[in-house]
Amino acid sequence: MKIVEYEAKKGISRSNLPELDYAVNPYSGCQHRCLYCFAINFTSVPEARENWGKVVYVKTNIVKLLKREINGMRRGTVGISTITDPYQPAEAIYRLTGSAVELLAKNGFRVTIQTKSPLARRDMEIFKRYRNSLDLGVTITTLDRKKALIIEPQTPSPQERARLLMELKEEKIPAWIFLGPIIREFNDNYENLDGIFSLASMTGSRVIYDFYSQYDGSKELMMREFPGYVSGEAFHGDRSWQSGVTKLIENMAGEYSVKCNSQADEWVASKTQAGQSFL
Ligand code: SF4
Repeated sequence: MKIVEYEAKKGISRSNLPELDYAVNPYSGCQHRCLYCFAINFTSVPEARENWGKVVYVKTNIVKLLKREINGMRRGTVGISTITDPYQPAEAIYRLTGSAVELLAKNGFRVTIQTKSPLARRDMEIFKRYRNSLDLGVTITTLDRKKALIIEPQTPSPQERARLLMELKEEKIPAWIFLGPIIREFNDNYENLDGIFSLASMTGSRVIYDFYSQYDGSKELMMREFPGYVSGEAFHGDRSWQSGVTKLIENMAGEYSVKCNSQADEWVASKTQAGQSFL
């Protein structure tokens, strides 16, 4: 694993995602190396992009930049991190995510975090202090450890992520499960989805789901390392398959009384309405 420290020029940027106003990414590249990762295509540092999961660039000056940039900036929702995992192993050394979250929440921004790592629990005191202005998403594609190892070879196990969700519930931190990407004939079956909705129900988590989209970077990794991978947008974007899975998910959400949205829905806006509880 190669770690490269550097001084970035910008700390916060406008987000193109409909549910976010801004994005903060303390790292370029991601040690978790998920085969399906769309972020490969959106990573601007060539060395990190071309050696996905093997090289991470660390923006060592990000907190200093943020302190300067947020002065006078219109307040809004900040996504941490949108093209990397903010609690990947490098964060154990640099602690940039925790400092950025605290700074933004303290200064009136709403912060939404997404991770696959229980390393996030180290910032529990910050989450508790600002629980009214942040939420934390934990990605769970499958609860089957063997399957997770195929598509997410360098991530903490789904069971560790489930334990993090339990702890977030105990501390009353607004939490959600990101169920995605849903990959056809891999994690779209009843048992898998049922296990995840059961976990959502136990932990009081909302579920946000999304289907796999084939980007060039992830396609290359999937073709090389995912057994039996079928290439082709038509296969992955098949409307009748997606609507069947969507129906299954909506039924489960009803049965378990779990709030659920697709990634395309404006779910962040809906949960941040004044006075509305996310849990
Ligand atoms: S954790 Fe997220 S950003 Fe990191 S490799 Fe996996 S999908 Fe990509």
